[in-house]
Amino acid sequence: MSIPSDLDISRAAPRSPLDEVAGRLGIGSHLLEPYGHDVAKISLDALEEQQPSSQAKYVVVSAITPTPLGEGKTTTTVGLGQALQQLGKRSAVAIRQPSMGPTFGIKGGAAGGGYSQVVPMEALNLHLTGDMHAVTQAHNMLSAMVDNHLHKGNRLGLDPQRITWRRVIDVNDRELRNVVSGLGGKLDGSPRQCGFDITAASEVMAVLALSTSLQDMRRRLGRIVVGYTKDNEPVTAEQLGAAGAMTVIMREAIKPNLMQTVENTPVLVHAGPFGNIAHGNSSIVADRIASRSADFLVTEAGFGADMGAERFFNIKCRTSGIQPDAAVLVATVRALKAHSGRYRVVAGKDLPDGMLAENPDDVMAGAANLRKQIDNIRVHGVSPVVAINAFPTDHASEHEAIRRVAEEAGARVAVSKHYTDGGKGAVELAEAVAEAAEEPSGFQLLYPDSADLHTKIETIATRVYGADGVSYQPAAARALEDYTANGYGNLPVCIAKTHLSLSSDPKLLGAPTGWTLPVREVRASVGAGFIYPICGDMRTMPGLGSQPAAERIDIDERGEVVGLS
Ligand code: ADP
Ligand code: MG
Repeated sequence: MSIPSDLDISRAAPRSPLDEVAGRLGIGSHLLEPYGHDVAKISLDALEEQQPSSQAKYVVVSAITPTPLGEGKTTTTVGLGQALQQLGKRSAVAIRQPSMGPTFGIKGGAAGGGYSQVVPMEALNLHLTGDMHAVTQAHNMLSAMVDNHLHKGNRLGLDPQRITWRRVIDVNDRELRNVVSGLGGKLDGSPRQCGFDITAASEVMAVLALSTSLQDMRRRLGRIVVGYTKDNEPVTAEQLGAAGAMTVIMREAIKPNLMQTVENTPVLVHAGPFGNIAHGNSSIVADRIASRSADFLVTEAGFGADMGAERFFNIKCRTSGIQPDAAVLVATVRALKAHSGRYRVVAGKDLPDGMLAENPDDVMAGAANLRKQIDNIRVHGVSPVVAINAFPTDHASEHEAIRRVAEEAGARVAVSKHYTDGGKGAVELAEAVAEAAEEPSGFQLLYPDSADLHTKIETIATRVYGADGVSYQPAAARALEDYTANGYGNLPVCIAKTHLSLSSDPKLLGAPTGWTLPVREVRASVGAGFIYPICGDMRTMPGLGSQPAAERIDIDERGEVVGLS
């Protein structure tokens, strides 16, 4: 069965006026700041006006360990929101804003897909309301003030060798990973080696996502550490006098963006922090607004449950205080077959030979990953619901295999056909989620703020990843000591590792045991509010492939965007 392209479905979907969409959440039109016809920012006055009397059921969508293709968290998030609406609930969806780097790189659009999409996809994937630009601008403003501070006498005594603040741009440009800035004459600054990250990797983006209000964002921006003195004292954006200006640059960006799905379900699109060196979740402000007005708020957490959901619980919910009621685990036939170790799935290539043939045994051979990710939800006291994201190429016996594994692990489970059938294809899933969310919440954080940083890292490594223990390179051990001495020991941790395995080695599939998590270095996002140990190579500036998506993207004779998915 073939369905139209994502772009065609997106264009054909009849859209409701945004005040009607907002009205479904009880958000009055006076709180909307329209950006054209299809997107509006929601004023932060909504935080005061919406009565917290009704607290939405809060549902996070996560996944088993994915293949490089992605297993459909965004489509499931959107489809589940649509299905809850079909059941007569006031539902809202909250997702991240995609970065334009990957949009023009390999991934294509990030608006969902098929009949579970956020519309219009061109708006979502390209610029939206300029929040990415604001983050880039605020970040680079601080970079300029750091270098200017050095140039004008360095009153704060920043050690030029220990400046941690880089520059950002929202383009996949590997040439900028390492650069020498300040070349020229004496008046042109002082040469030093630095580099660029992609905007999604900016700490300013993580601050945007974790701030609970405008004033809180101001404080967090002020706490950003740009580097250290020779005596190991941190130097902050506040000390440089930059935090006020950064907040002014970000004052519109902190308002969530309202859009809608192909079935007119309200969607709040806000912030897009990286999923490895940052927590990979959309904003707290959007969730605060939507959770005060909807019956159900469905939000996506990046990568598998060991990463996105763990950070959702231990970083985002810890910061916001909003308690989750249920967690959806997206599972696919193709990913479980990949976890059997019998097939190697490569991004940008066709699935390996034979992978689409009916074979429930292959699915069972990869089931350990699903079982472990179910445990990873349960260890937080949250009810897991397994969503079997159905692909047209799947076989009923393979769905049955996943269903058996989930049921044996005591999880609710439903096959979801939201991709081909929209909300009505996800009604069984929505009913299972509603039931799970009715259970009394036993939500618990994995570790208290007061645990030391080593304990936090070891708790996640052993209880979530399934490692035997953790090893630290000397630089990592030293950094943990320094951060503790600097007073950052109470922060949660965000472990940067591959998302393609529960372990830190992307080649280890299933649920690996008998391994140690190697922490190579540790960095701090003090403003955003987490410490991030790095395990393995983490790229914070992607490159373009040999056939970048940009080569296919164009404007047609009518001025419409083509090639965007
Ligand atoms: P994630 O959010 O987990 O990365 P997405 O929802 O973005 O995953 O889906 C990854 C890709 O797979 C997208 O191109 C999407 O359109 C496609 N996809 C997702 N679910 C299905 C499905 N059930 N059938 C066909 N394609 C799908
Ligand atoms: Mg996604």
